[in-house]
Amino acid sequence: MNIFNLSKQPVANVHSIESFSCIDGPGVRYVIFLNGCHLRCKICANPDTWNFQNGYNSTADEITQKIKKVKSYISGITVTGGEPLNSPYFVKDLFTRVHDLGLNTCLDTAGYVSENYMDIVIPYCDYTLFCIKHLDPEKYTFLTGKSQDKSLIFWNKLEENKKMYLIRHIIIPGFSDSEQDIKFLCDTIKQKKYCKGIELLPYHELGVHKWKKMNFEFKMTDFRPPTQDELNNIVEIIKKNGINVIL
Ligand code: SF4
Repeated sequence: MNIFNLSKQPVANVHSIESFSCIDGPGVRYVIFLNGCHLRCKICANPDTWNFQNGYNSTADEITQKIKKVKSYISGITVTGGEPLNSPYFVKDLFTRVHDLGLNTCLDTAGYVSENYMDIVIPYCDYTLFCIKHLDPEKYTFLTGKSQDKSLIFWNKLEENKKMYLIRHIIIPGFSDSEQDIKFLCDTIKQKKYCKGIELLPYHELGVHKWKKMNFEFKMTDFRPPTQDELNNIVEIIKKNGINVIL
């Protein structure tokens, strides 16, 4: 959602900020969580970021002033959510300012937005963490409540723009971890030029309490997190396909 303040600067609704993270892109990251997401992933760990106005509005300039204070300790910044592509003008403005500071930029996204939003942000991304959810269209829809089309368009745009990215794949036993699922993902990635590997996201139940607190019905009660052995097997399959894998 594009919102601007009285000085015509784009603003985004910020859920929270983490000053130092080592799991949201390369090196040490300053991470900004933006509110607003149109997907309704059944396994979402942050349903409190779905609403577009659940935090405070901020300009890129205001966030940049905070980043300057920790600039010497970080490699770059990551915007995540929610879905950060829903605030494209803000992200473009922030990434431009961050580049001016000599830092790199990372977008953590599911790519579920209109094409013009993608086009605004992609040129300013140094890295992208792209969560594909599930490559099977029916399972994608089961998991997210939406059609896969926009996500695949986003993937093509990353390639067309020659942008480095990691594919994030959620491992849910009995749903997204079969040899067939993983092989399909690997075969698809082999046709891509700019994908640097797969990051496995083991399904976890740490966000379930938020669903309860918000009076949302959590429907994934038949599923469980993967065991370490199950994850190791998947890592081996991916490695055998010659693809880098991060767990
Ligand atoms: S895309 Fe992310 S924030 Fe949006 S519903 Fe899915 S997991 Fe939650």
